[in-house]
Parts: sequence; C-alpha cells; structure tokens
Amino acid sequence: MKEQARIVIGADGMRSLVARSVQAPTYQAKPVLTCAYYGYWSGVPLAGAEIYFRPRRMVITFPTNEKLACIYVAWPISEFHTVRAGIAGNFLKTLDLAPRLAERVRQGKQEGRFVGTADVPNFFRKPYGPGWALVGDAGYHKDPYLGQGIMDGRRGHAAPESIWSTSGRPRRSYELPPGSDHARCNDASGTAELLENELLEGPQRRSNRHLSDLLRDRSLGTDRSCD
Ligand SMILES: Cc1cc2nc3c(=O)[nH]c(=O)nc-3n(C[C@H](O)[C@H](O)[C@H](O)COP(=O)(O)OP(=O)(O)OC[C@H]3O[C@@H](n4cnc5c(N)ncnc54)[C@H](O)[C@@H]3O)c2cc1C
Repeated sequence: MKEQARIVIGADGMRSLVARSVQAPTYQAKPVLTCAYYGYWSGVPLAGAEIYFRPRRMVITFPTNEKLACIYVAWPISEFHTVRAGIAGNFLKTLDLAPRLAERVRQGKQEGRFVGTADVPNFFRKPYGPGWALVGDAGYHKDPYLGQGIMDGRRGHAAPESIWSTSGRPRRSYELPPGSDHARCNDASGTAELLENELLEGPQRRSNRHLSDLLRDRSLGTDRSCD
C-alpha cells in the first residue's frame, strides 16, 4: 500500500521512522546519563509532586490516577547493572535517603511491578524539511528527569510558518527561522549540563538549589516541593 500526503508529521517517538526515512540530521547529542525505575503505590499520601536530590540520586513522586502515587528514582547510568541486580532493595535503599517519604511508602502498598529504563539518550534532530516535520520526542529527546517531554512536545519546534507558504502549500526551501532552534538548544544544553556536571557528579548543595529553582520555574501546573 502506498499513501501520499503534502506533508508527513513524524510524531512517532525517539526511534522515529519518519526521521530515519528523511535522514533528519542529529545534533547536540549526549549519551545516556541516567537510568531509572518507577512504580505505583496505594496508600501513600502526597500533597503534590515531591522532588528529592541526593548525592548521585534523584527521587520524584507525584499523585496520579486512582489515588496512586508514582515514585521514580534515577541513578547515574554507570550504576545500572548494580541497580538492576536488586531493583526493590536498591529502590528502597535510595528512598531511605528521604526518610519521611520512605516511611510513607513503607506504610503503603506497591501496585504492580517496577518499570525501568536505561535507554534515555539526549539529542536533537532537525525538525523539519521539504514535506516533513518532526514533533515531540521524534525531534528532540532528552533525559526524563525534568519531566519536560510532554510540555516540549506540546510547544512544538517545527515552526509552521517555515513549512507552509502563505498559499497553504508546503514551501520548497526550508531555513530555520532566526533564533528558533537556538532557543531550544540553549534551553536544553543548560539543563543537560546541570545533570551531567553537577547532579551526577556529587553532593553539591548549591547546584541542587539551582536545579530546584529550575524545576519550580518549569512548573507543569502541579504543586512541587523540593528537598
Ligand atoms: C521513565 C520516563 C518518565 C517520564 N516522565 C515524564 C514526565 O513526568 N513528564 C513529561 O512531560 N514527560 C515525561 N517523560 C517523557 C515523555 O514520556 C515523552 O516526552 C513523551 O511521551 C513523548 O511523546 P511523543 O508523542 O513525542 O512520543 P511517544 O510517547 O514515544 O509516542 C510515539 C507513538 O508513536 C508510535 N509509533 C512509533 N513508530 C510508529 C510507526 N512506525 N507507525 C505508527 N506508530 C508508531 C508509538 O507506538 C507511540 O505510541 C518520561 C519519559 C520516561 C521514559
């Protein structure tokens, strides 16, 4: 079967077939920095999202559907094999670094199993060209520690005015509008550097505060407290 369209939008995630088909160039790539496991608990009271920075660890919790709490723990990728060898033990040991949260979690009940990933690379792809555009993770994938992927996907980076001419037909030549790509690169490289150089490199109160401020600035409409 063959389908034709004036423009094809690749909203097909970080392994985008559309991106591969058009050979969208990748740039500002950084290797995987973290691994993470998360799970869902009932009976864990949370007023909103809670974020805990600990040396080489990060814990994020937030309330979700059916009164469950989602609890996410990230470690440096170098520790993935150790963490995976004893997921529950390592998860709870890390939660113990935030004792008030650990106590609430131990009083609750885990619903379902742990889910983990060590496959969270960081890269940009050129987000549009003749007859195609990439949105969401297909155009820009990053470590989930900032919880920013959905927001960035909604913002979109494939400026429509660069793809469509005023006649409503796709343009034949494509240039990035001044500043558009620059802005997303600046935004991303700042946060990636924070993660790589500071959070993963050791306990630094100053940088943790910096990261907390950043997360507050990027509020997704939920209460967040950082410790
Ligand atoms: C552990 C983890 C925690 C995260 N936490 C957060 C968070 O708290 N907040 C946040 O904002 N973001 C978070 N993210 C990031 C967020 O999940 C992604 O940024 C977001 O899902 C990207 O959406 P998308 O639609 O671009 O891609 P995807 O969600 O990957 O969706 C792509 C879709 O395309 C489909 N597809 C792929 N190939 C094809 C094909 N050839 N044909 C047809 N369909 C195809 C896939 O099946 C999939 O349904 C997290 C990510 C991870 C891994």
